[in-house]
Amino acid sequence: MGSRQELSVLHLDIDAFFAAVEVLMDPSLRGKPVVVGGLPWERGVVSTASYEARKYGVHSGMPLRRAGELCPNCVFLRGHFQVYREFSEKFFRLLYRYTPHILPASLDEAYLGLSSLTLLYPDLPSYARRIKEEVERDLGLSISGGLARNRLLAKLATERAKPGEFFVLRPEDEENFLGELPIEALPGIGHKTREVLLRLGIKKVRDLRGLSLKALRSLFGLHGEYLYYASRGKDVRGGACDFQSQAPPRSLSRETTFLEDLWDLDLLLAHLSYLSDRLASGLREEGLKAGRIGLKVRFSDFTTITRSRSLSRPTDEHSLIYEIARELFMPIYGKADLSIRLLGVTGSDLRQGYEPELFEGRKRGIQASVDLIRRKFGFGAILTARELKLSSLYSLDKAHGYVLKTASLTR
Ligand SMILES: [Mg+2]
Repeated sequence: MGSRQELSVLHLDIDAFFAAVEVLMDPSLRGKPVVVGGLPWERGVVSTASYEARKYGVHSGMPLRRAGELCPNCVFLRGHFQVYREFSEKFFRLLYRYTPHILPASLDEAYLGLSSLTLLYPDLPSYARRIKEEVERDLGLSISGGLARNRLLAKLATERAKPGEFFVLRPEDEENFLGELPIEALPGIGHKTREVLLRLGIKKVRDLRGLSLKALRSLFGLHGEYLYYASRGKDVRGGACDFQSQAPPRSLSRETTFLEDLWDLDLLLAHLSYLSDRLASGLREEGLKAGRIGLKVRFSDFTTITRSRSLSRPTDEHSLIYEIARELFMPIYGKADLSIRLLGVTGSDLRQGYEPELFEGRKRGIQASVDLIRRKFGFGAILTARELKLSSLYSLDKAHGYVLKTASLTR
């Protein structure tokens, strides 16, 4: 393993983010097993489990009902996604105090490129630790951190540091550190890949290195190439050079799993409008416009259909996004004889928002006032008549809009 690159990538990850924010909002939860994502008899999955809840075997992605069986004493919360978003924004604002070279990995996770600071801070590990501790203090949430030569290794270092610690993976230790990890510790090794590798007797990353590039390619295609390099500590995405400019998020989506499968067209369209509204508002918040709008529909039998359409002009407007989502949805709804379990709306092909065009002026003005009122009084302060139909299904929380089952932000 070459060590030409220096230690220069710091990975920071907030511990049990959603659960930690809930504890901060309600200190009586401290020390208790907390599960965010919904109530144990509801559908959908666990978004975050506190470390106390993880002791019972509860983890994110697990069906809520299963979590309820494993941990009947856990405190189950639907969550406050708007509040998490605010904490996330603060997290990133704090990071920008140290460097502009930041790659967001999710709401609570980021890579910092520190190579430009090596002259200023010859002892980079101490400086990186200081960043971690100061951000932790100013945010009020526990953070884990890892410092290494590239993003892949920095993320693995953070995994080792969890929860709350800081781990420096020095180039001379990489080979052993990585070799001893179970293969599933490598990011991107899913259930299927793992099964195939286990059948070949490959359990540790060290074993994986015994397979040639050709063998891995024939087993897994391009993913095999990734495995070949990752098992050697090489990040095919490159090292610190990616930090030259911050990559904008690739897509932004809003989706929801219903409490009960839905068939009623009015209610489905109301959801679609609400999701489009949340997406449009998310785009505006990030100063982005979407050049492509996507729709995701999951039926009661779990078959999932996605459709998307490119726009002649990128948009961040609720009405336009809804119109397209509706056009994509109607033929699917018309043909299906199953009820619907999940709806999602995605904006992709994202670009930095342009200056408002002249003829857009008035609409912009209205949208800006909507955004302003929502920032002040919460998302639920302004909803369209169509969205108000949802009040039959959910309680309207003034600060956070409808408390929907899941909200996801895909970077
Ligand atoms: Mg985290």
